Amino acid sequence: MPETYDLHCHSIASDGSLSPTDLVQRAHEQGVTSLALTDHDTVAGLAEAQTAASITGIKLIPGIEFSATWQNKCFHIVGLGIDPDYPPLREATHSLQIMRMERAEKIADKLEKKRIPGALDAVKKAAGEGMITRSHFADFLLSQFHVSTQQEAFDRYLGAGKAAFVSTTWYELEQAVNWITQSGGVAVLAHPLRYKLTASWMQRLLAAFKEAGGLGIEVVTGRYNADEIKTVANYASRFELAGSVGSDFHSPANPWVELGRLAPLPTNITPVWELFEHLNEQAA
Ligand code: AMP
Ligand code: MN
Ligand code: MN
Ligand code: MN
Repeated sequence: MPETYDLHCHSIASDGSLSPTDLVQRAHEQGVTSLALTDHDTVAGLAEAQTAASITGIKLIPGIEFSATWQNKCFHIVGLGIDPDYPPLREATHSLQIMRMERAEKIADKLEKKRIPGALDAVKKAAGEGMITRSHFADFLLSQFHVSTQQEAFDRYLGAGKAAFVSTTWYELEQAVNWITQSGGVAVLAHPLRYKLTASWMQRLLAAFKEAGGLGIEVVTGRYNADEIKTVANYASRFELAGSVGSDFHSPANPWVELGRLAPLPTNITPVWELFEHLNEQAA
């Protein structure tokens, strides 16, 4: 039976709405045979996901989605096949949790100045032990009827330059790629078209990413159409990057994105799983 991969999704360890167990179960029901859990800046959901995957009989690839800074802009780097116990990577996630908490306090202060109190308590409660993200703030703004969609929350309050935006200095892209690589994983540039870069900036980014040791790029995501897949596949070929496929699933409440519901990777692109399966074989 052919494998069905989904190499990018979120659980309640960051801004997803399902527990790692429920996420793995849903992936299995959707026909996914290899799933990477890639929560924002944390590996906290991986142990539970691995237990669920062993019971369900699907393959779990340990992953993470690092927020990283390059040229003063935030980019997301997915790590696949990482060792979550690699001490520098674990220490990085602890620092990132503190950074995210401090950012949350500043976002809440800005909202308070806009006469929207109570955000910090609400997002802390919603995130629980997990990472606090802007999605938690968006949910809070929705629940208090300050906005009518998640998108509006970003457009009016949380997006870059908006009323409650807090500029964050994440770790540098090169550093994030190093943690992934040194822990035995493959670094993949997530959703490359979401950064709205010009072609020349995209080329500079990809050159810097490769130079840092990046090996893959998400060619197929839950929202790309055929033209967009072609555009990214061209970048993958030109920069000799392997192609990844990942839905970026967050919640069943969003009917446009489902686990495993992904277009096939163009056949001229090296699948990223050939890289980490190869690494695993070498390690075995
Ligand atoms: P953070 O990492 O805390 O900055 O939060 C980023 C998360 O917010 C992303 O991973 C998305 O899940 C979500 N997000 C970012 N922009 C938007 C948007 N325009 N609409 C809805 N969700 C968004
Ligand atoms: Mn997210
Ligand atoms: Mn992302
Ligand atoms: Mn994501």
